[in-house]
Amino acid sequence: MPTTDPHAPILLSPPHLTGEERAFVDEAFRTNWIAPLGPNVDGFEREMCGALGTGLHACATCSGTAAIHLGLILLGVQPGDLVLCSSFTFVASANPIRQLGAEPVFIDSEPESWNMSPAALERALTTLAREGRTPRACITVDLYGQGCDYAAIAPLCARHGVPILEDAAEALGAHAHGLPCGTFGDIAAFSFNGNKIITTSGGGMLVARSAAHAERARFLATQAREPAPHYEHATAGFNYRLSNLCAGVGRGQLRTLAARVARRRAIFAQYDATIGRLPGVTGMPEPSWSRSTRWLSAFTVDPRTAGCTRDQLLAALATERIEARPTWKPMHAQPLFAGTRMFAHDPARPPVCEQLFAEGICLPSGSGMRDAELARVIDCTHRALAGTRTRTHATA
Ligand SMILES: *Cc1c(COP(=O)(O)O)cnc(C)c1O
Repeated sequence: MPTTDPHAPILLSPPHLTGEERAFVDEAFRTNWIAPLGPNVDGFEREMCGALGTGLHACATCSGTAAIHLGLILLGVQPGDLVLCSSFTFVASANPIRQLGAEPVFIDSEPESWNMSPAALERALTTLAREGRTPRACITVDLYGQGCDYAAIAPLCARHGVPILEDAAEALGAHAHGLPCGTFGDIAAFSFNGNKIITTSGGGMLVARSAAHAERARFLATQAREPAPHYEHATAGFNYRLSNLCAGVGRGQLRTLAARVARRRAIFAQYDATIGRLPGVTGMPEPSWSRSTRWLSAFTVDPRTAGCTRDQLLAALATERIEARPTWKPMHAQPLFAGTRMFAHDPARPPVCEQLFAEGICLPSGSGMRDAELARVIDCTHRALAGTRTRTHATA
């Protein structure tokens, strides 16, 4: 029920149900198909492939992380291998690398898209080649609803024989170079966690160009049961499949994807036209080849000109019960990955993603956010920035 409390919390990206989910979930109850697998899982896989274009195959999973884990296994990642990965991302992109006994090599962002820097990637590939090493895979991350510059990245990986695992967890509905995100990798992973553009409460999807990959993913995700009348196992599998009930929620959510993208883009446009015009405040850039979903509206706050640090702005929003978050802390700067290698966009300068982390903020972006809530966020941000500036001048 919509609340009228003008001080009610505004969340970063809460689940947004539209009612379309109900029929699919009711059908699962009516047919007692509450177990994992079932017609909603098949339907959800089919409809996701349909939304992404032709020639794709899918395996619905219990999380996006599970899809990334399976994807790395399908690409043959073994203990001791190197796996390239965007540094500026959520930890779930990189955790499965270590869990397979492989070592991540992190790649910086480019300023143009905030995503994997083709220049840093090229330097990593040639440096490693000189050392006689070919990475087993490259995990590209389509951050905050925006694809990577695949026109540059894909040929580089192809030249070095490195397959791409596209972490499109945040980018369902986005396009890069005219093609949907999730279609650039040999394998792609989506997430339907509660905060993503569509949700199944928890869930994910592995999408592959090869039918054999998708089939192998389904096999591994259901405990790797060999075809036999009894329980026969030759491989260690996982319990990674999505439930029929959750898949029903996903089918309903997917039907409204276009409206969700439009709303998130409109929210970003509102922020950009208001607080994006304040000195020192800059929206995440959208290159001409990109059509971002603006899954999260991300901005940088330059303390030298904004008169306020990112953290001061976060604190001001928190006092008004508005949930905002810093942008992702780069993986190469995490204690978890201390000592790992990282290739910077420009080796003569500090990594781009370190600055994006120091100054970056994600503002409430949910597709269910009402105009009055959006106005409250904009107003509070305005007051925080203007207020700090006035105080700074007053004491100067
Ligand atoms: C959400 C997310 C994941 C993980 O998805 P889960 O479904 O939560 O396991 C992976 N990578 C990125 C970039 C994400 O944002």
